[in-house]
Amino acid sequence: MTQAHDQIDAMLHETRVIAPSADFASRASLSREDYERLYRRSLDEPDQFWAEVAGELDWMTPWEQVLDWQEPHARWFVGGQTNVAYNALDRNVARGLGDKRAIIWEGEDGEVRTFTYAELLREVKKAANALEALGVQAGDRVTLYLPLIPEAAIAMLACARIGATHSVVFGGFSVSALADRIRDAESRLLITADAGYRRGVPVNLKANADEAAALAPCLENILVVCRANCDAPMQPGRDVWWHDAVGAAGEEHEAAALDSEHPLFVLYTSGSTGKPKGIVHTTGGYMVGTYLTTRSVFDLKPDDVYWCTADVGWVTGHSYSVYGPLLNGATVLMYEGAPNQPDWGRYWDLVQKHGVTILYTAPTAIRSFMRQGDEVPARYDLSSLRLLGSVGEPINPEAWMWYWRVIGGERCPVVDTWWQTETGSIMLTTLPGAFAAKPGSAGLPMFGVDVAIVTRDGQELGPDEGGLLVVKRPWPSMLRTVYGDDARYQKTYWGEIPHVYFAGDGARRDADGYVTVIGRVDDVLNVSGHRLGTMEIESALVSHPSVAEAAVVGKPDAVKGEGVVAFVLPQLGQVVDPAALRAHVSREIGALARPDAIIVADALPKTRSGKIMRRFLRQIAAGQEVQGDTSTLEDPSVLTRLAATPVV
Ligand code: ATP
Ligand code: MG
Repeated sequence: MTQAHDQIDAMLHETRVIAPSADFASRASLSREDYERLYRRSLDEPDQFWAEVAGELDWMTPWEQVLDWQEPHARWFVGGQTNVAYNALDRNVARGLGDKRAIIWEGEDGEVRTFTYAELLREVKKAANALEALGVQAGDRVTLYLPLIPEAAIAMLACARIGATHSVVFGGFSVSALADRIRDAESRLLITADAGYRRGVPVNLKANADEAAALAPCLENILVVCRANCDAPMQPGRDVWWHDAVGAAGEEHEAAALDSEHPLFVLYTSGSTGKPKGIVHTTGGYMVGTYLTTRSVFDLKPDDVYWCTADVGWVTGHSYSVYGPLLNGATVLMYEGAPNQPDWGRYWDLVQKHGVTILYTAPTAIRSFMRQGDEVPARYDLSSLRLLGSVGEPINPEAWMWYWRVIGGERCPVVDTWWQTETGSIMLTTLPGAFAAKPGSAGLPMFGVDVAIVTRDGQELGPDEGGLLVVKRPWPSMLRTVYGDDARYQKTYWGEIPHVYFAGDGARRDADGYVTVIGRVDDVLNVSGHRLGTMEIESALVSHPSVAEAAVVGKPDAVKGEGVVAFVLPQLGQVVDPAALRAHVSREIGALARPDAIIVADALPKTRSGKIMRRFLRQIAAGQEVQGDTSTLEDPSVLTRLAATPVV
């Protein structure tokens, strides 16, 4: 942690503005006027606004009070009882969507499984019965450690149906990461699979689960889905096959009436910055937040085929692969595997084959596709697409333009959505039919979201001044606490800056109200007394034709305080010329940001969710030994290679 931060310099002046086509705008469900009216109302009359949205969903007992705010603890829809799985499934079947496809799943090997809403409801009811038969009760925690298969969504919804709090741990995590999370959540049941496929190779999840179970005495049972060949060793009395337990379970099940503040799930943040925290989300507010944002941000229409590429191990997979779209009765595509399996055309093949209309993915994926060249997507028919989304990191304007031009055919609006595990649902974006997008800028606050850019002591900054991004009042889908550590919740989120939620990101807001996130506050560089966000320098680097991806960190410098160190991944088939790149950065954003050192890398250290982890790069740049927990890295060996790479 660096200390006291105030302003952050704004350097990049992106001037491109991309408006939605007249065709898209005329069909969109929300216009600019709608947004302005609803946004105003959400701030001026929040109780009425949220009561109306929540009232579109089913409640077993109506709430008595919309919000009870005892800073920093919020209770939403106080006294109300509902069930998220009921609203996602039973409610949609009851309103005639029983035969509509809920999930289209494609395995990495090309196998396809489809579930209608009625079929998904039946599976979830059976799974709920099976969990109850194993003794799982409302309030218990259940850890999921699964590949991206339909059973992952079924298990989440079954937990929600009976009131068990799920904790999904990404299937790529190691034994120790899994064991830590099981222990921290005190789970009594683990749901896993014999194996999952990744790049054609089966990954033995059950073996990891067994090792983790040995380290987590709180576990009583392991429920095992057969995804590969069902030959996992089973420990009698503890391990149960999913197909036996769920197969034998009854098809009738009544969803539990749960208090609005009943904990729906715990999810550990991806760990880009430090020790993972168990973020707790509850029932009513999370349901209302994901329901409203999915519908508005993705302009959902009844015949959309919606694909969010995130794994259910991340919050995006929770809110926008499962809960948000299913609450809206959408048809969701799920794909199990890697984007380059069997080759870099796989996503485009999926779009073409399933007629995907809405695609929501991450900048890391977009930059990887960009690096492979335009020829790959050009081989596919992407004309079904009508809307594109981005989430997870700031998207560099060059990557934004590529996504819009090559994938969207200059026809599909791109919504850049800023939010966090902690926020539960999208906080900043430009509604696609209502506003023009500015590449690199997330945009405007969603309904009920009251953001500001402030200094460390809470003073609001003016247009184009960089500072700390905060939220000034509670919103329904906000985290309620850190599991088992409310003091950490209070200190981290509401204790840094008086009376506001501090997100940990730096940002600035332009005269039109568009917010641009310029990187994590912990990653800010201090060069000759100027505080520089990472995003702008990285975007300047990526805008050079020889660079596919870049990560920038500071390195102690006797004269300047910090020098700029750039790790760059070359565009395929290109050679990086350090002098030309330095000149390019000076020209794009100024001499101050000119890299002192450039390291041409063959890969950058990323979390398993694809985010660049700059903390380790800082250590490498300073010539130090890499320290800290590298278990959330996709490929820790990248660090050793980088440390041995010469500086140019
Ligand atoms: P940890 O909190 O453990 O370090 P994390 O912050 O990466 O992990 P997430 O909650 O998945 O975990 O990510 C939220 C963060 O991702 C945001 O705080 C922001 O830094 C970044 N982010 C997400 N979406 C965007 C976006 N559209 N634009 C800019 N930054 C984004
Ligand atoms: Mg975070």
